[in-house]
Amino acid sequence: MNLNAYGYGPADARQWIIVDIGVTFGREDQLPGVDLILPDPSYLADLRESILGIVLTHAHEDHIGALAWLWPRLKAPVYATPFTAALVREKLRERGLLEKVPLTIIPLKGELTLGPFDIEFVTMTHSIPEPNGLAIRTPLGMVWHTGDWKIDPDPLIGETTDEATLRAMADEGILAMVCDSTNVFVEGATGSEGDVREKLTELIVGCRGRVAVTAFASNVARIETALHAARASGRTPCLVGRSMHRIVAAARGVGLLQDIPQLIDEEEAGALPADNVLYLCTGSQGEPRAALSRIARNDHRHVTLREGDTVIFSSRVIPGNETAIHTLYNQFIERGVHLITADEEHFIHVSGHPARDELKQMYQWARPRIAIPVHGERRHILEHVRLAQSLQVPEAVAPNNGDIIRLAPGSAALIDEVPSGRLLVDGSVLLESDDDALRDRKRLAAEGAVNVALALSAKSSIAAGPTVSVRGLAMDDESEFELALEELEQAAKGAFGKLSHADREDDELVEVNLMRAVRKAAEKLWRKRPLVDVTVLRL
Ligand SMILES: [Zn+2]
Ligand SMILES: [Zn+2]
Repeated sequence: MNLNAYGYGPADARQWIIVDIGVTFGREDQLPGVDLILPDPSYLADLRESILGIVLTHAHEDHIGALAWLWPRLKAPVYATPFTAALVREKLRERGLLEKVPLTIIPLKGELTLGPFDIEFVTMTHSIPEPNGLAIRTPLGMVWHTGDWKIDPDPLIGETTDEATLRAMADEGILAMVCDSTNVFVEGATGSEGDVREKLTELIVGCRGRVAVTAFASNVARIETALHAARASGRTPCLVGRSMHRIVAAARGVGLLQDIPQLIDEEEAGALPADNVLYLCTGSQGEPRAALSRIARNDHRHVTLREGDTVIFSSRVIPGNETAIHTLYNQFIERGVHLITADEEHFIHVSGHPARDELKQMYQWARPRIAIPVHGERRHILEHVRLAQSLQVPEAVAPNNGDIIRLAPGSAALIDEVPSGRLLVDGSVLLESDDDALRDRKRLAAEGAVNVALALSAKSSIAAGPTVSVRGLAMDDESEFELALEELEQAAKGAFGKLSHADREDDELVEVNLMRAVRKAAEKLWRKRPLVDVTVLRL
């Protein structure tokens, strides 16, 4: 989840640009029902008048995914290169914002001036088309914001890292480098998409039966590799999953993926001999609704894999997804489907982020005065600081979310901490992360719920009920369950009986007392603390 802001000017008249505005994905076990987590933009929303623009480095979700959600609170013009803009436009369209958001397309290696910021887009290599670093020049010096990057000598799509420009920037003098920390613990270099193409092609040519390759849809070079491997192995490729179609269309729209074999739809692919098909599927992380999970469960309308077929995971296991992915593995293996993963084969996947040798190379090229590691957990950021220090970078800062760091004039210093946090996308609604609704939902998921209904006469005596129903709680058998319900009803009745006549006039008092009594009874029955709701009706 990336959102960086750069400010220039005195505190009372500071002008800002925002670089990237991404999301992270919810974990079902932690926040049931929450798919997306966004940075809380409240601090910047209050400064809205002085935000000159939102500049996007590349189209990964952790860099653009929050734009359509948060734009209404920021309302600044948006700048992106063509491929990124194509995917952003789709997101804006989905949320009915396409006509409202001023989106300017900047060509690769283009420039943009926003107030005191002169911004130059610098071509990098990564795992998606059009990764850009930003050289942000101000009257007080240049910030080199790397974006996500690696050094890929053979990226297959797009140019190699623009080393000449980086060296020229260093000669001009880089005040601060804000740099990707993802793979700071990985020794050596990341490896190239070119290596992956060679390896995957060799593997696929050697396969018999149907082959399904799964990869991140946004890695267009990898998609192209799978399509070329299909051609080399006499297979017709078929895309499976919405985001595969979406990304391929966006890529073709900006002139990529022009030399690819004819694609066929799932139904046609099903009719081909097994040795002549290559499926390219979404769902490498075991996402339950994605194509690969449905195929693994044998629950896909048109795609079936059988004994002797092969699934190739051209992807890595993102921490947190192990269980979901291992479930997929088990489902396939159970059916005799052969699996090939990055665990046993080298170069069927490479990362998009710089390993240590690449980071060292970048520091040699850029020679910044200040290192500011971003894009990683705390341990990555701190290790990156140590690396920068070992490379004789004069200053290194380890920013926390919400820190405001002065880069100039003078030496780098933390000058303020502003509110930062997370917003949660819950269906179509944005929630604060401490919203009661989520607390209740976690409790419902873990403890179940009890409902009590009671009808009172005008004189506050019981006219009907109390009636109790429960959700998400069970007993060994039906008669025990009936007994449990009766016990809860008795508890409610007992609590009501203890109330004075005056108290019975007060709905809220009645509700609270019944709730407490029923919860206590439920705890005794189930050793759980269900959510208890009491409804009082007055006749
Ligand atoms: Zn990223
Ligand atoms: Zn990225």
